[in-house]
Amino acid sequence: MKATCAQLQVPFHRASVGDEEAEAVSEVIRSGWMTMGPKTFEFEKEFGKYIGADHAIAVSTGTAALHLSLEAAGVREGDEVLVPTTTFTATGEAVTYVRARPVLVDIDPITMNIDPGDATRRVTTKTKAIIPVHLGGQPCDMREIHGLAEKHNLRVIEDAAHALPSEYCGKRIGQLSEFTCFSFYATKTLTTGEGGMITTNSATVADRVRLMRLHGIERDAWKRYRADGSWFYQVLEAGFKYNLTDFQSAIGLVQLSKCDAMAQARQVIAKRYTVAFASLEELVTPTIGSDRNTSWHLYILRLRLEHLNVNRDRFIDLLQQRGVACSVHFIPLHLQPYYQRAYGYKSGDLPRAEQEYRTCLSLPIFPGMTEEEIEHVIRTVRDTVIECRPARATVYVSSTP
Ligand SMILES: *Cc1c(COP(=O)(O)O)cnc(C)c1O
Repeated sequence: MKATCAQLQVPFHRASVGDEEAEAVSEVIRSGWMTMGPKTFEFEKEFGKYIGADHAIAVSTGTAALHLSLEAAGVREGDEVLVPTTTFTATGEAVTYVRARPVLVDIDPITMNIDPGDATRRVTTKTKAIIPVHLGGQPCDMREIHGLAEKHNLRVIEDAAHALPSEYCGKRIGQLSEFTCFSFYATKTLTTGEGGMITTNSATVADRVRLMRLHGIERDAWKRYRADGSWFYQVLEAGFKYNLTDFQSAIGLVQLSKCDAMAQARQVIAKRYTVAFASLEELVTPTIGSDRNTSWHLYILRLRLEHLNVNRDRFIDLLQQRGVACSVHFIPLHLQPYYQRAYGYKSGDLPRAEQEYRTCLSLPIFPGMTEEEIEHVIRTVRDTVIECRPARATVYVSSTP
């Protein structure tokens, strides 16, 4: 395709933020309160209500949410934590923060989520927790995961960085397990630039996480510089500096009010893609279980490489050249240098994750996509598939009897 005229460039992501968020931030600046305070507590309250969880604790990142959850779960040095290999490194990295060992688990080839059967096979006497990751927003097999957790006495910490809002058996992700960790990173379905949230129905967990997110200082310490705050505070633990600011929470409140509309917009785009690609045998569109709903944070397409004369990397290059930015979620952790060096993983260890990794790519999907952008993605993917069909070998049938 020759770029004779200016070609449309569809970015992989564009955040849905605007004047409302800007106004909310200005309001916080004018209030004179520059860190965690009233806006953050309002955000926590509204987020908890939206999810349907008793407690929501705002933190500085999704990674901090995972760290604080592992800390509150009592995971310590020498323990093992089950983590899918197909995830972002934050999931495994948080386990190293508490000096435990991430034990990587293979995936279900259809959903690309952690395979509960493979997780069960990797349980040892040292296993203390499991972190299911709802890849792209599709909830994991939570019934099976809770079953195995109960059987082996494991704590369940959901990595719901992609799963706002997602549902499992009619329940919103964030109310199912002892710990659910959300991320409000720049590319996530709700963004505050950087940010995170832990939801839980346990008052004990909520208290511990609140204590540890701000220096291990007793709970009301945040307002010690306000007129109604006391100068006196007690340091109960060596905690962390993981609080969210009121600027971020003000953005979060605006984003939360748009959350359903943004999810709806993603769903419409996902449907368009799935309908458009259904007739192409070279492509596998996402399969979502009938008992669950996805946030459509990601639209992960898989290539049937046996029907194409290019590999995934080349296919992505072609799309990029034609103005469609793509990504890959994720390079399995066991193929990364750190996990190989620290834990001895090697290529071939988790074959299903590797197989899906070789064929997957993520297409642009975000609420502000224009009709022109959606059409451009569909047309470019379709044209590229057709162009990459191998020439058919001619088969000569012998006519001799
Ligand atoms: C984004 C992400 C995180 C970490 O979130 P941050 O807010 O960037 O710390 C964790 N897990 C997964 C699967 C993610 O995609």
